[in-house]
Amino acid sequence: MAKNTGPACKLCRREGEKLFLKGERCFSPKCAFERRSYAPGQHGRTHSRSGGTATGRESDYAKQLRAKQRARRVYGIYERQFRRYYGKALKARGITGLVLLQTLESRLDNVIYRLGFASSRAQARLLVTHGHFTVNGRRTDVPSMTLRVGDVVAVREGSLKTTYFKELSAVAEGRTVPAWLQRDLKNLSGSVLRLPERAEIDGNLNEQLIVEYYSR
Ligand code: SF4
Repeated sequence: MAKNTGPACKLCRREGEKLFLKGERCFSPKCAFERRSYAPGQHGRTHSRSGGTATGRESDYAKQLRAKQRARRVYGIYERQFRRYYGKALKARGITGLVLLQTLESRLDNVIYRLGFASSRAQARLLVTHGHFTVNGRRTDVPSMTLRVGDVVAVREGSLKTTYFKELSAVAEGRTVPAWLQRDLKNLSGSVLRLPERAEIDGNLNEQLIVEYYSR
């Protein structure tokens, strides 16, 4: 299973911004970043982020590295897999950076999160690995599965009896769904209408810097 290593909140403090990796907790006063918005470790308060130069300015390389790490942490993906996504995006038609982001957004765990069926991508991954979802009617336990336009994700029939899914429509109702997806709360399912446009993807991600990082 693809995942981030280390406690999630440390990653936010390392990046110097909230990455929203822990669902509802991220919006509560319990958020570790709200309480300690400096980098973890002994020198966290003096050096807010790693990669700075002696003058405190980040080098181009440090900026590219940060952009890549940030995206990797947001989507919870190992380096090797992230690099593979970049390789595929490079070969695909279209703008490499945008194709890369669209590929990340099309992952099954991300789509479940975007549909509001999980409070974070990490929770979505767990639900998938526990076999609670089907894609086009077939059960899957692969969170990294890439969905295509027209694919339908649904909660598995057997899972609908569990407390989590019984209460899910009420909880999910308050979560906004992007226009590239369609959600059916009654049946706890959703489908991919089209690929997301750039404006529909996290504006804090810098795909240009990610491409520069891998093109070095
Ligand atoms: Fe980041 Fe969420 Fe932890 Fe806050 S609670 S530090 S946003 S993962």
